[in-house]
Amino acid sequence: MVVLRNVAVACPVEGSVIVRDLCLQSRDNAPEHFAKQLRHHLVLPALVNAHDHLHQNGVPPLPQRAPFRNSYEWAAAFRGHFAHAGVQAALSTPLAVRLWHGGLKNALSGATTVMHHDRAHEMFDAMNFPVRVSQPCTWAHSLHLHYGPDVAASFRDSPATVPWFIHLAEGVDGLAAGELQELRQLGCLSGNTVLVHGVGLNDADVADIVRAGAGVVWCPSSNLSMLGQTIAPHRLRALFAAGCLALGTDSRLTGARDLLAELEVAAAHSDFSPRELLQLVTGHAQRLLRAARCDDYLIVCDRGGDPFGELHELRRAQLRAVVRRGEPFITDPDFADWFAALKISCSAVWLDGHPKLCRTDALSPQGAATWIPEPGLTLQ
Ligand SMILES: [Zn+2]
Repeated sequence: MVVLRNVAVACPVEGSVIVRDLCLQSRDNAPEHFAKQLRHHLVLPALVNAHDHLHQNGVPPLPQRAPFRNSYEWAAAFRGHFAHAGVQAALSTPLAVRLWHGGLKNALSGATTVMHHDRAHEMFDAMNFPVRVSQPCTWAHSLHLHYGPDVAASFRDSPATVPWFIHLAEGVDGLAAGELQELRQLGCLSGNTVLVHGVGLNDADVADIVRAGAGVVWCPSSNLSMLGQTIAPHRLRALFAAGCLALGTDSRLTGARDLLAELEVAAAHSDFSPRELLQLVTGHAQRLLRAARCDDYLIVCDRGGDPFGELHELRRAQLRAVVRRGEPFITDPDFADWFAALKISCSAVWLDGHPKLCRTDALSPQGAATWIPEPGLTLQ
């Protein structure tokens, strides 16, 4: 049993902040008892990234000639980008390494649960894969890009208890504006439908989504870079009020560096309070993904302000610790005794110029022996 003493435990869903001892259950190599004094620290639930393509995070983005009218135009433009040497190099990297990189990108920023909008990989079940990939989930890519499972068939085959994801209304033109209607005509709008992007939705569409009990994943950075605009604040508010809205990064092909950066963009393009923003990446996302609750946390310094605003403008290197399954994942160096107490091998790394300890088995499929090229992360 590990006990973090005197931490302020914040719950964005309930709005509560209680200073108490937090007990963490880890794997069976834990000692009888390890306690760490963490006065003036805040513990938040780890974040949930409701939309990413883990294997695309190392692919160089399209040189910006935005805005496009819709994602299909963007995809057509990207075809010419495949000849770029950097793109070719990224795509020739083994899939396992690319997926691992995407997982690591998320975990370093405190997003320990992720929806991967593509085929599942057996590696996701490995205990040391850097994030929990939300499963079970089902998906189609989009209505008009011919990639992945057939839209109607994949929805029909998805149990009603399993979330079904699709990119929808990712555009600002008539095609995007008509996509919800198209989806409904296919019989694919239901309580387990989760629509990614939704920039082209109108007020009536939003009301229909709420009525159906479906969900929307908002990816403002990606929308702004590809389309020059994102969902209007009053529509976001309506979706939030119904508990239907979560936040996602998308991959770095179009999206933000990580979920912490995405939260900043979300704050600038909505009227959400710091607590509401945190709800998007914790309780609300967990509900849309139907993800189980887990012993995953972020530890940050308590600066004495709004506890739900402590992540505001925080960069990943400023997180004191990311905790997965009750165990330290990446921390500041003064948490070395925690790794030692649990007999978890850790490596000294630099993260954006800050010294850190990261569990060695998370650094790549083979531990630190091979290296995942995440910008800003180097071995000391
Ligand atoms: Zn996407």
